[in-house]
Amino acid sequence: MRPFHYERVSEPVKAIAIRAVAPNGRYLAGGTDLLTLMKDGVECPDHLIDINDLPFRHIELDSDELRIGALARLSDVADAELVRREYPLLTQSIEAAASAQVRNAASIGGNLLQRTRCPYFRSETVVPCNKRTPGSGCSAIRGDQRTLAVVGTSAVCSAAHPSDLAVALVALDAHVRLEGAGSTRTVALRQFYQTPDTAPDQDTILRPGELIVEIVVPRLDPRTVGHYAKVRDRASFSFALVSAAVVLRRDGDQMRNVRIALGGVAPMPWRLPAVERALEGTGLDLRGVAGALETILADARPLPGNQFKVSLARAVVHRALQLAAGAA
Ligand SMILES: Cc1cc2nc3c(=O)[nH]c(=O)nc-3n(C[C@H](O)[C@H](O)[C@H](O)COP(=O)(O)OP(=O)(O)OC[C@H]3O[C@@H](n4cnc5c(N)ncnc54)[C@H](O)[C@@H]3O)c2cc1C
Ligand code: SF4
Repeated sequence: MRPFHYERVSEPVKAIAIRAVAPNGRYLAGGTDLLTLMKDGVECPDHLIDINDLPFRHIELDSDELRIGALARLSDVADAELVRREYPLLTQSIEAAASAQVRNAASIGGNLLQRTRCPYFRSETVVPCNKRTPGSGCSAIRGDQRTLAVVGTSAVCSAAHPSDLAVALVALDAHVRLEGAGSTRTVALRQFYQTPDTAPDQDTILRPGELIVEIVVPRLDPRTVGHYAKVRDRASFSFALVSAAVVLRRDGDQMRNVRIALGGVAPMPWRLPAVERALEGTGLDLRGVAGALETILADARPLPGNQFKVSLARAVVHRALQLAAGAA
């Protein structure tokens, strides 16, 4: 690991001001991703700005929305009584992620910003990887493709985004509040991530030095139900090969306002608007869903090593729908 300067701050403006004069600096939250990347030489910041004293740990619900501070720990959010009661999908997605020890340390903001698990990106030995060093090539094209994305990819990179929580948040139409030098903005999480076209090293639209302050989730109609289903190689703790977050409103014996996001298949949580429209008004017994699910990932461009993800996505969404609708 290379030497770096460490500083702990208690005010957002101070953190942002330090980053402004340390362009190769990084914010440190739980450190469960950043420190591993630093040890392996993937990230080499010259300045670590520890943001753990910033006042971003709240978990609050009012009549319009749930607000979760970016520094709230995954375990605090999953265990919060109001989250378990009003947004059980969030608890499910967090409990499907990592181990209890990691969830105690990892923050919400850091979870959304964790880097891809593509083995070439994370390799201790430097190998061609356009996400790590733009222009160097992509080792996965002739290598291990099992965990890679099948949709939203480009010729330069096919890495998948690894967060479970982000998938549930995108299905819930969540937003992120961001604070930078002299500006704040709110962005739909669905628009926060970007495809690896011109800048494969940039996963999000976050500007240099900008902080994630909080995540905002709209209130749900009381008839809303949801489920998070995840398929992975090991049941203990592994990243998703494919996951699905399903949210729908029960309306008599029909489903309404269906929202579906997939994880493990794209560089970002991947919404399925055509499938959502096709499922609108379908019976909760799921007898009519097979046709709608046929079109899942119709625009996918899988690689030889991850073609299985397309049919797996169909099965995972079906399972999540079954469990959300009570048809299982
Ligand atoms: C063994 C293991 C298994 C795991 N399995 C899963 C899994 O199954 N599913 C899953 O979703 N995740 C999994 N993870 C990933 C884990 O959830 C992330 O490492 C964690 O959420 C990152 O949060 P952190 O607070 O530690 O972030 P850090 O490591 O501190 O930071 C990560 C990045 O975010 C930036 N950052 C952090 N907070 C902010 C902020 N507020 N504003 C701006 N930038 C910020 C940092 O600068 C850094 O670039 C696993 C991790 C481990 C170690
Ligand atoms: S898929 Fe992306 S992250 Fe993986 S080696 Fe290729 S360029 Fe790097």
